[in-house]
Amino acid sequence: MAQDDCIFCRIIQGEMEAEILYQDEKVVAFKDVNPQAPVHILLVPVKHIPSLKDFTGSEFELVADIHEVAVKLAEEQGLASEGFRIVNNCGSKGGQTVNHVHFHLLGGRQLKWPPG
Ligand code: AMP
Repeated sequence: MAQDDCIFCRIIQGEMEAEILYQDEKVVAFKDVNPQAPVHILLVPVKHIPSLKDFTGSEFELVADIHEVAVKLAEEQGLASEGFRIVNNCGSKGGQTVNHVHFHLLGGRQLKWPPG
C-alpha cells in the first residue's frame, strides 16, 4: 500500500516529479535529487517498506530484484568496468532520511572508504 505522506510513494505513483530510469511492477529507479557522485541513482521497491529491517519472508526477494536492476543500470551508465557502489542506509544512525527503503547506486568517481 502506498503511503500518502511518503515522497518515494508519490514519485512511484507519478504524483511527484523525478527522472525515472527504470520501472517495473516491483522496482523503480530514479535519479537522486542531490547527487553525491556523477551517477547517483535510487532504487526502491514499489511496495512501501520503511527500511531494510522491516523486510520479512519473501519480501527479501525484492532485495535481489533491486540488485539485479542496479547492476543493469550500472552497465547502462558505463560503470561496470571501473566499478560502483550500492549503499543502503538503515535507520537514523545508519543515515536514513527517507522512510521508504532505498538503495543508492553511486559511481563515476573514485569512492572513498570508510564512509562518514
Ligand atoms: P537516505 O539518506 O539514505 O535516506 O537517502 C535519501 C536520499 O533521497 C538522499 O540522497 C536525497 O537526496 C534523496 N531524495 C530526497 N528527496 C528526493 C526526491 N524528491 N527525488 C529524488 N531524490 C530524493
